[in-house]
Amino acid sequence: MSVVGFDVGFQSCYVAVARAGGIETVANEYSDRCTPSFVSFGPRNRSIGAAAKSQVVTNCKNTVQGFKRLHGRAFSDPYVQSAKSSLVYDLAQMPTGTTGIKVMYMEEEKVFSIEQVTAMLLTKLKETAEAALKKPVADCVISVPSFYTDAERRSVMDAAQIAGLNCLRLMNDTTAVALAYGIYKQDLPAPEEKPRTVVFVDVGHASYQVSACAFNKGKLKVLGSAFDHELGGKDFDEVLVSYFCEEFGQKYKLDVRSKPRALVRLYQECEKLKKLMSANSSDLPLNIECFMNDIDVTGTLNRAKFEELSAGLLAKVEGPLRSVMEQTKLKKEDIYAVEIIGGASRIPAIKERISKFFGKELSTTLNADEAVARGCALQCAILSPAFKVREFFITDVVPYPISLKWTSVADEGISDCEVFQKNHAAPFSKVLTFYRREPFTLEAYYNNPKELPYPNPNIGQFNIQKVVPQPSGESSKVKVKVRVNVHGVFSVSSASLVEVLKSAEGEEPMETETPAKGDENKMQVDQEVQKAQADDQKENADKKSDTEDMETSTEDKQGEKKNDQPPQAKKAKVKTKSVELPIENSLHWQLANDMLNLFVENEGKMIMQDKLEKERNDAKNCVEEYVYEMRDKLHGVLENFVNETNRDSFSIKLEDTENWLYEEGEDQQKQVYVDKLAELKKLGEPILSRYIEAEERPKAFEELGRQIQLYMKVVVAYKAKDELYDHLEELEVMKVEKQVNEAMTWMNNKMNLQSKQILSQDPVVRTQEIQAKTKELYSACNHIVTKPKPKVEPPKEEKAAEQNGPVNGQEGPEAHVGNPEKGQASPEITDAKLPEMDID
Ligand code: ATP
Ligand code: MG
Repeated sequence: MSVVGFDVGFQSCYVAVARAGGIETVANEYSDRCTPSFVSFGPRNRSIGAAAKSQVVTNCKNTVQGFKRLHGRAFSDPYVQSAKSSLVYDLAQMPTGTTGIKVMYMEEEKVFSIEQVTAMLLTKLKETAEAALKKPVADCVISVPSFYTDAERRSVMDAAQIAGLNCLRLMNDTTAVALAYGIYKQDLPAPEEKPRTVVFVDVGHASYQVSACAFNKGKLKVLGSAFDHELGGKDFDEVLVSYFCEEFGQKYKLDVRSKPRALVRLYQECEKLKKLMSANSSDLPLNIECFMNDIDVTGTLNRAKFEELSAGLLAKVEGPLRSVMEQTKLKKEDIYAVEIIGGASRIPAIKERISKFFGKELSTTLNADEAVARGCALQCAILSPAFKVREFFITDVVPYPISLKWTSVADEGISDCEVFQKNHAAPFSKVLTFYRREPFTLEAYYNNPKELPYPNPNIGQFNIQKVVPQPSGESSKVKVKVRVNVHGVFSVSSASLVEVLKSAEGEEPMETETPAKGDENKMQVDQEVQKAQADDQKENADKKSDTEDMETSTEDKQGEKKNDQPPQAKKAKVKTKSVELPIENSLHWQLANDMLNLFVENEGKMIMQDKLEKERNDAKNCVEEYVYEMRDKLHGVLENFVNETNRDSFSIKLEDTENWLYEEGEDQQKQVYVDKLAELKKLGEPILSRYIEAEERPKAFEELGRQIQLYMKVVVAYKAKDELYDHLEELEVMKVEKQVNEAMTWMNNKMNLQSKQILSQDPVVRTQEIQAKTKELYSACNHIVTKPKPKVEPPKEEKAAEQNGPVNGQEGPEAHVGNPEKGQASPEITDAKLPEMDID
């Protein structure tokens, strides 16, 4: 089970994982912790992340970026239509009516749904996590903006599924940040004390999010959130791009917007300039060489002018801050700290405005870029049974009020009821009671479309099926559970019919809550009883699953009070049975299952295609590297290890291959490169091997010589009656002598023969053979010469001396012979008469 958090940003993504050492933001294959949210399509493969970003100028029409906000939107959506005009790549309508992107991939025009594109990005992030954890990744937590509606959230969930991820929670950006802030704090107020209130501000590339959170020991509760979905770093880039488009238009008579490639370059340079202006208030240059029509352009700007140009954007900073304070009824003095994160929070004018609003210094205790991913990884660790994390309960909010409407049975009119008000705790479930004789439909919608950053307030329709009257002919009581789940998605999660059975005594049953006449028109909402109790339930559920249900009756929309106390006339003996009812969902822009399965399958195929292409490229690179390496060495270290004729023919072969790589061999199958390399190696490897042998052979001879000397020393000492070796058996010592002589003869013979060879000829003896000889000698002799001398009890008076060191003659032989297998160094031997040996 993996514990991973993904921050999928509009511009860039971060991956955090939990390991034994704690939470860690991990780097991608370029050793960068930031992975650009780019996907590029080519004739043979896709590039994702940094590799894709590097193609944004050269392959701009097929390099997709800035697609995060296209999730869950119709192609006709005003946001999509306005984005379309500013994007360099093409958008297209999917057969279902949602948004897709149109690119050339594998030399064909292809339309990918936005879920597929995000899945591609997630595939890359998943690989990054897998490389860091060295195991497959599936379980994860993914961040989304807190203002995402149901359709957008479901679309991201689908993307996760296409990428083979099991998203345990879609976590709101600012809630993830709050968790990353709170879980490590040791000094939070006790649960019964006044909570610590912290405001979190995330200024990203495309959006601006604010939330106020209350912290107590072991828990955080989001009090409210606000946003501006049209304020972020990219809007400041836009200001700069517009400024320079106009300036270059006047100065150089260039229509920059007519050339996508030039425009992409201008965006890149303007973003760099924006970042520089955060650190520097003086005049700064913007230069682009060969910008358009071979013209080099240049301009300057400073922070003061930039702030003047951005006045309209900067004026928008205060709105969401004020909104959060109003929603939560907090006073500025209630705020303990204002934590800012997100790349664009580094813009000085934004910081100033936030700081001025709260009348306090801003805190930057969190990593502005990585806090969201870290929070997600922490949430994943909390949800994972495999990880032990400090208890920390999180209560989020429902961002927009949700209502249900349905058709009344009696008057055929429409009734409705708000089931979740704005900032209601989430995740949360409620049970609604209806009295019906037949199937009915509930329609869920956001009841305040004005505050939605989304054009369609519909959430979906839920058809409660198989509803039948009671045997008595009366309406049946139908309990419907609605919930906002961990992902912040609304659903009708279950429905059941309460069937009244005969009483035990055979009396006529009397159902306690049989509706009064006309009750069919009503709905009863089982809602919160006590806030505290609700909180507890949510917290418990939040830990590993979801929320518990609440069941208390209140009145319905028509204002007809429904008593939540059991009626006086209640008869205890009545038996009821709950029958689960099927629900048919029709959710706004929900991807159909068969389509989702097809996307999963296609993603698998594309991953395979990328892998094959990578292998093909690697094979090609191997040929290229080999050509360059051998060409250099052939006229360098290898020069003497090949005769002139062979050197010339190999040289020509290398040159031909180099040319081939740029021509016919530019684009071949993997096997062609593999064969080409084998062909070259057939010529090159013998030369290389002679060189390596010549380097290694002397060392191997030296090692063998050392062994021979060592054993010979023991033989000589034994013959000289050295008491160090008098415990050895003569027969065995003779065996050593014989082995040593044999080895010496073998070595001298080989050395003599080898010395007559020239370097371009194959060696008479291979290093491996010499090493085998050394090993053989060791096996035959070592156990004999190192045989320990039997211990003799020292006389009593010598005991004291023993403490100062071993008594001479009591220990085993001093010769401690190195094991050639283990590469141990043998001791130096300086005395004893040793045979002469040639050492290469
Ligand atoms: P979002 O949260 O909107 O989905 P994101 O998470 O990709 O987007 P971030 O990575 O938080 O966005 O921020 C990226 C933005 O921050 C870019 O516009 C970038 O130019 C801007 N940015 C980064 N560093 C600086 C800086 N030093 N000064 C000004 N802007 C900066
Ligand atoms: Mg972000």
